[in-house]
Amino acid sequence: MTPDLGMQDHSSHPGRAPLFRKITFVGLGLINGSIARDVRRLGLAGRLVGTARRTETRDEACSLGLVDEATPDAAAAVRDADLVVLGVPVGASGDAARAMAPGLRADAIVTDVGSAKSKVIELVAPCLDMRRFVPGHPVAGTEESGPAAAIERLFENRWCILTPQAVTDPAATEQVAALWRALGSKVDVMDAAHHDKVLAVTSHLPHLLAFNIVNTADDLEGVLKGEVLKYAAGGFTDFTRIAASDPTMWRDVFLHNKAAVLEIVGRYIEDLMALQRAIRWDEADALFERFKSAQAIRREVVRAGQAYKRVPSVRYQPGRSVRHLSGTLG
Ligand code: NAP
Repeated sequence: MTPDLGMQDHSSHPGRAPLFRKITFVGLGLINGSIARDVRRLGLAGRLVGTARRTETRDEACSLGLVDEATPDAAAAVRDADLVVLGVPVGASGDAARAMAPGLRADAIVTDVGSAKSKVIELVAPCLDMRRFVPGHPVAGTEESGPAAAIERLFENRWCILTPQAVTDPAATEQVAALWRALGSKVDVMDAAHHDKVLAVTSHLPHLLAFNIVNTADDLEGVLKGEVLKYAAGGFTDFTRIAASDPTMWRDVFLHNKAAVLEIVGRYIEDLMALQRAIRWDEADALFERFKSAQAIRREVVRAGQAYKRVPSVRYQPGRSVRHLSGTLG
């Protein structure tokens, strides 16, 4: 795509003043693509520009109408933007910030959507004005990736966690919060280290278990392995869906939330061994109590509106709205 990064106002949404004149998406995958879809649908910005490394990514994002234009030149892409959304694997955040920094307006707000917060803050700090950087994490997603995986209303009724630091300009935080609220999200603010611990339990550990269970099954010999695939309809299929999540993204999540993940994996192994022991010694009551309390927690999660409906995930097609997702929460 030929970059044409001048300011043109494409906002035509009736009755709503755009929150931003130009938003630049650094990374054009599932999350940034889904934000872009809804920003356009809701008329929240005048102009949408994207940057990604690969031509296929940029062309796909443009042909799907996620952005008005896309360029491999991150500094050119962010020029004149009043909001920049960083949506690359967390390990690439520092390099992405360094590449775009020369083009940033002094008053531009930069936010990100990375699944681990403390490390992203550390990686971007040398390159950005941290008063204008609002770390964020939408707790919503699917196992799909790339621009074609972008879907409308992905963030409706889901939490978006912002982790501003003491230095963060409260006005910048409020503008980013306003965007997420406009996308239908519930916004929470917390400390980055606290976010990383909470997400290690609710998202990172379940993904680690899914990757591992699927590989354990794959490691079985001959006939047994065949039977696993044949009878996969049990709980195993749910694990294979989560394990289909992007390997690059998840490699980066585990390497960049190491302390919290290792702590929770340790706790998990202790609890697993207690279950192992209860099975070995026929401790029926102990097993029943553990399963009963887990069942009660599931009911609470459903009551809190945090359980997705179980229908297959559907890729975005222009003009088609997809509300229910077989979600994973990256
Ligand atoms: P994705 O669909 O795989 O898209 C990633 C984007 O980043 C693509 O545009 C890709 O395009 C670009 N990219 C990949 N590697 C890069 C690198 N090394 N340097 C620069 N750009 C790179 O990913 P996603 O699911 O949207 O995830 C984006 C971020 O959101 C991640 O930090 C993830 O932790 C977070 N998140 C994900 C979920 C989820 O469920 N997936 C949920 C919440 C938050 P090119 O390869 O063409 O550059």
